[in-house]
Amino acid sequence: MYEGPVQDLIDELGRLPGIGPKSAQRLAFHILAADSDEVMRLADTLKLVKNTVKFCEVCFNVAEENRCRICRDPRRDQTAICVVEESKDVVAVERTREFRGRYHVLGGAISPIDGIGPDELRIRELMPRLADGAVTEVILATDPNLEGEATATYLTRLLKPMGLRITRLASGLPVGGDLEYADEVTLGRAFEGRRAVDDQ
Ligand SMILES: [Zn+2]
Repeated sequence: MYEGPVQDLIDELGRLPGIGPKSAQRLAFHILAADSDEVMRLADTLKLVKNTVKFCEVCFNVAEENRCRICRDPRRDQTAICVVEESKDVVAVERTREFRGRYHVLGGAISPIDGIGPDELRIRELMPRLADGAVTEVILATDPNLEGEATATYLTRLLKPMGLRITRLASGLPVGGDLEYADEVTLGRAFEGRRAVDDQ
C-alpha cells in the first residue's frame, strides 16, 4: 500500500477492464514520472469525453448529439439492423463497407459469470425498433466467443417469432476473439456470407 493519492490512483486504474494490480501500479508510476503537460492533457481528454460524448438515443452508439451520425443519415438502409456488442464493433463493421443499414449496440454480451444477463443489455430497447415492420433483417454480429454466441442464441429465440430474417456472420472469424480484432477483409467476407439462422 502506498500513501494517499498514489494508492487512490492505483485503485482507480485497477478498476479499468483488463488492468490487474501489477499493471495498475506500473501505469500509476508512469503517470507520476510523466511530463505534467502530458498528464494534464490526458485528464482534460477524460473530462471532455465524459462531458460531451453521449450515447445515441436510438441505437446506443457513441454520439455527439442525441442521435449518432448513422441514425441521422437518411441514406442508410432502414430495413436492416446490425446488432453488435460495443460501439467499437460499429467502427469495425463500418470499415468493411459491406453494410449500409443501421446498428443496435447492446452494451456487452450475456455472461452469467460476470452477472450480466439480458436485462443488463439494451435488448428491451431493440424491440420497439422492430415493431413497425420497417425492419426486415436483423444481423447478429456479436463477438465469436462464448458470450457472443450465448447472446446471439438468446436473441434468435426472442426475435424469430417476429417473422424477421435473422442472420449471423459467416464462420471464418477468429474464434474466441473480439469482432474488432478481425481484419476488415475477413470481417467483410463474413458479412457478405451471412446466413439465415435455422430454427433452434
Ligand atoms: Zn444511432
